[in-house]
Amino acid sequence: MAKVAPWHSVKPGTRPVYHDNNKCTEGNNIEMQYRRSGVGNGRLCEHCDRLDKNGQ
Ligand SMILES: [Zn+2]
Repeated sequence: MAKVAPWHSVKPGTRPVYHDNNKCTEGNNIEMQYRRSGVGNGRLCEHCDRLDKNGQ
């Protein structure tokens, strides 16, 4: 299982999504200083959604 606790970016200009799959490239590209745990104000990232549904 690669679905993990949700996190999101607080970087200005970043689209309002959260990530919950540790294989998501977009989620993994968030710099540590902008990374926050939780879902923030966003919806689930479509890449994470696809990975989750594929069981990855
Ligand atoms: Zn994602």
